Amino acid sequence: MAEFKLPKPLPSPSEDSKPFWDACQRQEFKIQKCDSCGHFRFPPSLLCPRCMSTDTEWTRVSGKARVFTWEVTHRPLYPAFDTPFNVAIVQLEEGPRLHTNIAGCRNEDLYVDMPVQVFFEKVEDQEWYMPKFKPA
Ligand SMILES: [Zn+2]
Repeated sequence: MAEFKLPKPLPSPSEDSKPFWDACQRQEFKIQKCDSCGHFRFPPSLLCPRCMSTDTEWTRVSGKARVFTWEVTHRPLYPAFDTPFNVAIVQLEEGPRLHTNIAGCRNEDLYVDMPVQVFFEKVEDQEWYMPKFKPA
């Protein structure tokens, strides 16, 4: 008997976040940069939180970051995810922080301030790329 496995849930891009996810599907890492004051921001938003300008440009950034914090999930909260897995917050070189997973190392080897680099992982059996990070 074939084993049934639920598909992994995918993001539902909003009007504000669609350019981010579209770039990820091209395996480009872009965040918003304010045209008025130069502030990089994430998550995507209509207004710059620093100067309230609506002038913004989606800018390709380095993808370099450092682990700000993380946790390891041991109980399956959704059956599509294999446990244990980590959920990390990384701080981009450009300043903003985002939630992600760290791949390419054991959960026990994660540490605060660990240098990491973005990469794009294809979601199993789906035409979708997720930005994740791995040790730099
Ligand atoms: Zn601004």
